[in-house]
Amino acid sequence: MIIVAFFIAHWQLSVFFQTFFLHRYGAHRQITMSKGWEKFFYICTYVSQGSSFLSPRAYAILHRMHHAYSDTPKDPHSPTNYKDVVTMMLATKHKYDAFAYYREEPEAKFDGGFPEWPAVDKLAQSWTGRILWGGAYVLFYVHFVTAPWMWALLPMHFVMGPIHGAIVNWCGHKYGYQNFKNGDDSKNMLILDFLTAGELFQNNHHKFGMSPNFAARWFEIDPAYQVIRVFAALGIVKYGTTQRMRWPAATSANDATEAEPEVDAAAAE
Ligand SMILES: [Zn+2]
Ligand SMILES: [Zn+2]
Repeated sequence: MIIVAFFIAHWQLSVFFQTFFLHRYGAHRQITMSKGWEKFFYICTYVSQGSSFLSPRAYAILHRMHHAYSDTPKDPHSPTNYKDVVTMMLATKHKYDAFAYYREEPEAKFDGGFPEWPAVDKLAQSWTGRILWGGAYVLFYVHFVTAPWMWALLPMHFVMGPIHGAIVNWCGHKYGYQNFKNGDDSKNMLILDFLTAGELFQNNHHKFGMSPNFAARWFEIDPAYQVIRVFAALGIVKYGTTQRMRWPAATSANDATEAEPEVDAAAAE
């Protein structure tokens, strides 16, 4: 029971900090926070992702490329460019490493504006750091496993981040329904995205890239946005009113910037 709870907690926290800190804050700047909170959430992201920590810098660069070139040959991880999910993830890792380890210069338009903490990145991306986390997961399992099948969950802890990436990048542009014609293959997969904390509302998100709420229709629920609303109410984060359009406010790719933004109670100071 403890193992199952640990697995669920690791899965949920890891994907939450990916969408909240790396994606919505780091890559898109949908929300703002003080430098102190930024440091706090940087550490939270590291601790929750552990052995599969993703550098905010490399994540932001790769992700901005994904939006700019969505489902074209220059998209770093579009399912249209790869025969299967494993091939896509290996290619994505290769491109990610180029930016994470400063082997390649990004295009200027994709650079800057993301949180940076070189000391944490250095530790997190070192083999020592990754192996220590891996060892900690093994020790936890050794101590708490009560049935043999539980060992099958252990390898997933080592690569929690890439597992989420594979689900979101592959399924989010392949399976599901579309609310908006964005000119790409982005889809919404689940109406309540408990699996990836809202990340599977890819179609809505590609339409409203600056909205902190990835849900757009009344029956869609984005769990991470609900947490962001609580953070905003507590004064931890702020988000603007740039994009709060909802279905059916905009129905084509062109009206995204013209629709009247809604002001959220939590955003109005
Ligand atoms: Zn996408
Ligand atoms: Zn995005």
